[in-house]
Amino acid sequence: MTSPGEQDALDALKRVFGYDSFRPGQQEIIEHVVAGGDALVLMPTGGGKSLCYQIPALVRPGVGVVVSPLIALMQDQVDALRALGVRAAFLNSTQNLDQRREVERAFRTGELDLLYLAPERLQLDSTAQLFDQGKIALFAIDEAHCVSQWGHDFRPDYLALSMLHERWPDVPRIALTATATRATHNEITERLGLGDARHFVASFDRPNIQYRIVPKNSPQKQLLELLRSEHEGDAAIVYCLSRATVEKTADFLANNGIPALPYHAGLDSRIRERHQSRFLREDGLVMVATIAFGMGIDKPDVRLVAHLDLPKSIEGYYQETGRAGRDGLPSTAWMAYGLADVVQQRKMIDSSEGDFAFRRAATIHLDAMLALCETVSCRRAQLLAYFGEPGGAACGNCDTCLAPPESWDGTIAAQKFLSAVYRLKNERNQKFGAGQVIDVLLGKETEKVRQHRHDELTVFGIGTELREGEWRGVVRQLLAQGLLGVEGDYGTLVLTEASAEVLARRREVPMRREPERPAKIAKAARTARTAAPVDLSDEARPLFERLRAWRAATAKEQGVPAYVIFHDATLREFASSRPSSLEELSGITGVGENKLNRYGEQILEVLAEGA
Ligand code: ADP
Ligand code: ZN
Repeated sequence: MTSPGEQDALDALKRVFGYDSFRPGQQEIIEHVVAGGDALVLMPTGGGKSLCYQIPALVRPGVGVVVSPLIALMQDQVDALRALGVRAAFLNSTQNLDQRREVERAFRTGELDLLYLAPERLQLDSTAQLFDQGKIALFAIDEAHCVSQWGHDFRPDYLALSMLHERWPDVPRIALTATATRATHNEITERLGLGDARHFVASFDRPNIQYRIVPKNSPQKQLLELLRSEHEGDAAIVYCLSRATVEKTADFLANNGIPALPYHAGLDSRIRERHQSRFLREDGLVMVATIAFGMGIDKPDVRLVAHLDLPKSIEGYYQETGRAGRDGLPSTAWMAYGLADVVQQRKMIDSSEGDFAFRRAATIHLDAMLALCETVSCRRAQLLAYFGEPGGAACGNCDTCLAPPESWDGTIAAQKFLSAVYRLKNERNQKFGAGQVIDVLLGKETEKVRQHRHDELTVFGIGTELREGEWRGVVRQLLAQGLLGVEGDYGTLVLTEASAEVLARRREVPMRREPERPAKIAKAARTARTAAPVDLSDEARPLFERLRAWRAATAKEQGVPAYVIFHDATLREFASSRPSSLEELSGITGVGENKLNRYGEQILEVLAEGA
């Protein structure tokens, strides 16, 4: 038996959104909020948080008020809801007085289902007065981690959210975030007064994302190769650390025929907005960006998130990679990682202005990130363990599962390398970067070697059993394991306390040997694709392209992102199952009542023409 609330929720899911079933966790949360309970929801990016407040807002009497810091995206969010036939509007500083008055009027008269609101408006007396004049179904607090002062997205305006409960104690509140760590969770609970709320912590697994971390050689070329071989015509986000790399990489891709746009905080805000808007609206664009880009970007069909530089923490990495594949279709999270990344990040922490506690926290975050890069076991299992979900079996959809790297005993290599660093320091009082130490071990008679008479050292030429690239792997892993340190502006190498244990043979050093991966992975990726819910046959592909063209034209005409019309997944299903009546169309995931009425006939025409 279903209760009336449950039935209403399921009806709304089918009728408005065109979805058949709830994703894990959604139903429980929705029922709890529909019944008037407070909730704190922790769910990964792409997990489906929006429905958790949108459906209760539709089912409960009154207007659902959504507080969100993402002002630049409110228009798109509202457009997407309107396309579903939901009566949505927003209030923020981008509107003129007349526009705001019209929205306020609609709120008072109950002509809205959902109202999006920028947090700074909560400070205004006029907002409180407005709230008193209408009926509120619920308060949703999106991106709730913005209330956490230690997090990376702190918004002072969010502190004012605690007053919602004091002034309107009978209105249920639902706070949502994709930031999962214990510390943030506790801070949200405390600051928003959600101690008595029910806490829903979903699994953070994103099974459709394939995690891959490869050794960095020439990152731009590696990226280009990946885009060409596996992600042609796909939407992608490429993250780089610096503005300069962003610009260079975007140019490089564009020069090689891949449509790419740069995005970073140094660009004029109008350019940033234009690039963001094009990325959301057009198919198959590559956004090359610093981490300034991405929060709240709910484009469902990003097929690849690439990192050309090492993220500072697993939290950041997971949030960024989570932007791939929100629609549940197979997607790739790919990162190129090398020795220079470790040196650079360690240097940045050392030279940062933060106090001891800050540097210590930054080091712990970086070490966890490095451990993920150097692991010989399943990446996903390690990621989930980090978020407190231990015991995961090997996933079969990450690079270490698909092409297992070997682990080898690197103790002797480590000793050789550390001895060379030791001798340079103690016999010559010199410090060098990795390149020179490797040249010495390989016995290379370079000018720099002769100039410093390094060929006279006892360690000269004792490391010829490994090639240069392999030595760089050794150094990277020593740095990652804390068995070697870096110092100063030039990233010179120094011994750490732990180095002494290795030199004294009290500690073994297991290392990872990179497998011959690219070929195998590419094959595995293809099989993973075939396993996708709806993969396209050769006959269906041209039909899918016709549908995409129809969608692009329709979206352009309306000035909305393409996915607001229909998701890729829905177009794929049109193309492969070829419905021939409105009745059949309505059974397809993503076709709700409103879209069926509005586009049904047009879709049938496109399908008939393409047949
Ligand atoms: P989050 O806010 O948690 O990152 P969203 O709410 O944006 O995730 O949802 C991610 C995507 O999944 C959206 O495109 C949404 O339409 C889709 N989605 C959500 N719930 C369902 C469902 N029950 N069935 C099918 N698709 C869903
Ligand atoms: Zn795995």
